[in-house]
Amino acid sequence: MKKSLVIHILVILIAAAAGSMIAKTLSDDYQNKISPNRSIKPASRTMCGFNKFVADVQWMLFINYCGSIDSIKDQNVDEVYNRLAAILRNDPDFQKAYEIGALMISIKKSDKAVELLKQGTDNPRLSTNWKIPFLAGFVMNHNVPKEKLAELIKSIKADSQWFFETAAKRSSPPEPHVISSLMRAKAEKLMNKKWKTDINVVNEKHALLCAWIDEATASTKIKAGAEEANFSVVQSSVKDMNQKLLQLAAQLKKAYPDNQNVLNTIAYMKTSCMKGQSACEACLATYGPGDKFCSACGSPVAVYGICEKCGVVKRGAHCSACGYPPKEAEAPAKAPAKAPEKK
Ligand SMILES: [Zn+2]
Ligand SMILES: [Zn+2]
Repeated sequence: MKKSLVIHILVILIAAAAGSMIAKTLSDDYQNKISPNRSIKPASRTMCGFNKFVADVQWMLFINYCGSIDSIKDQNVDEVYNRLAAILRNDPDFQKAYEIGALMISIKKSDKAVELLKQGTDNPRLSTNWKIPFLAGFVMNHNVPKEKLAELIKSIKADSQWFFETAAKRSSPPEPHVISSLMRAKAEKLMNKKWKTDINVVNEKHALLCAWIDEATASTKIKAGAEEANFSVVQSSVKDMNQKLLQLAAQLKKAYPDNQNVLNTIAYMKTSCMKGQSACEACLATYGPGDKFCSACGSPVAVYGICEKCGVVKRGAHCSACGYPPKEAEAPAKAPAKAPEKK
């Protein structure tokens, strides 16, 4: 027998063995109907490379089977879910399977989609992926029916705010839509509640402003030993917080000019967040030092930043026109506080 023929036969045998193994793994996964409460666990560590390969094959079959999100119907969504869960059991690090697969079932099986995405979010090897938690929050907010929501939040121990917060922390800087989703989730929790003891949150826009004020007044650094909950990921990623607040406040004031809860909120915002910036009483546009009228709406504004003596706009500690306050006035403050040392 020729040597090349032996090698040829060997190769065929190995290929056949591998083929049957793949076929078995694939059919096992489909026959083994996954119970709804079972979480996805990697089949085994030693089989990881092989499982990854199987997951790739399953993924190709999955895409082929699903076609598009429109072809997922009540009749086939269970099968789609089972296939997806099988893929993620073989390769729990398969990012595309979470991102695309969960989206495929997000309409017909939204709670299952969120469960899968939560597992992807919790996977420490995917801890830099912000899209998975973002999608989880998105599906939770848009697709999960209201009557199922409370139960889902309880079972996975996470709500949409947690998902968006996780997404924001993982992306630096976070995409604007991650921040706006996070803020809407926070605002939703404030709806129809008391805010800052005496203010009733009256509508969605109002809740959003309250949520942004909460962010603006939260701490920017995680202090040693302090609760991380007080840290604002939003504040560290939004460049001009004041501008954002004023913009929201202006829209709100225009829509609800007589609502006392709204007006009190804006007053609170001005005293607690607007340090070093002045805004027009009427339209909330910012104005500069020395301005007598608002350039946006023409209302008279409280003048600031001018020399107390001559009224010229101040650019530093002393007036550049008249020198006020005079240099001598500072002298006593600089007198030595300590007694001269003994020799
Ligand atoms: Zn104005
Ligand atoms: Zn002056």
